[in-house]
Amino acid sequence: MQIIVVGTVAFDSIETPFGSVDKILGGSAVYITLSARFFCPKVGLVAVVGGDFPEENIELLRSRDIDVTGLQVIEDEDTFFWAGKYHYDLNERETLATHLNVLTSFEPVVPEAYTNGSIVCLGNLDPTVQQSVLKQAASPRLAIMDTMNFWIDQTPDALRETLALVDSLIINDSEARQLSGEANLVRAAAVIRGMGPRKLVIKKGEHGALLFTDEGVFSAPAYPLEDIHDPTGAGDSFMGGLVGYLAARGDLSVESFKSAVVYGSAVASYCVERFGPQRLLEITHADIERRVDDFRTIAEIPAPASVFEA
Ligand code: AMP
Repeated sequence: MQIIVVGTVAFDSIETPFGSVDKILGGSAVYITLSARFFCPKVGLVAVVGGDFPEENIELLRSRDIDVTGLQVIEDEDTFFWAGKYHYDLNERETLATHLNVLTSFEPVVPEAYTNGSIVCLGNLDPTVQQSVLKQAASPRLAIMDTMNFWIDQTPDALRETLALVDSLIINDSEARQLSGEANLVRAAAVIRGMGPRKLVIKKGEHGALLFTDEGVFSAPAYPLEDIHDPTGAGDSFMGGLVGYLAARGDLSVESFKSAVVYGSAVASYCVERFGPQRLLEITHADIERRVDDFRTIAEIPAPASVFEA
């Protein structure tokens, strides 16, 4: 299966209690494609950058077998810029700046070669742009999207329209509460699934993820990492690992989705070990498999011996 990924390609400035970096390569589409390509040789990027974006960054994506035919370069504009800060509770992120720049007038064009893409992955981006990509893709087998508080606040109507068109949504817990108006995550999931996406993943940062489907709920654990430097991109690398796994299996059943959640979690757990996408450039298939095994061990619950009399 081929995957089409639309999202941001960005410059990020990030501050965490462990250090800071200025204007490094980032963006939702970068993390998604760099994660999906471990599983799937056909990952096509649809995005936009400005004339200030270094050619070597494009080369880096190309060198990881990502098809960049759908990456537009608008010479006289600046690349999307995001700055964020994390405190000791790494689940809490403060956005310091979002400069849409070249994104303001982005009209995505899905290249001819991508249009038999069977998974369309709508990374965090303006929901109108997500919708346009979905409409250009010829009847995908799976349309899956992400979003964040910025778009829930700024473009609620367009977001609702896009949600109605997708099969699946990946979102974090605070955004699920904001989008649904429900504090309880089970209730929030029911409200959001009513908006369109029948397979819903709610990420809970370092506390794992919940998958809600017509068959019920599946809870995936988080990996207790001691070496977290920068949570940026965790959500996107989770999504990239998840869609990559589904594409590689060619199976979109609920069972396959459960495994995909575990593979997505494994990739995300590596991403946060270094600043930016650095760690995604270093790891191998063997690393991913090792961590999936660790996840299995952590989640194993022995059949408990009952202490009540029969
Ligand atoms: P996450 O996986 O949620 O940590 O995503 C981090 C990435 O999202 C960063 O590399 C940012 O460039 C990108 N980003 C931040 N704000 C936005 C936004 N409003 N729309 C799309 N992408 C964003």
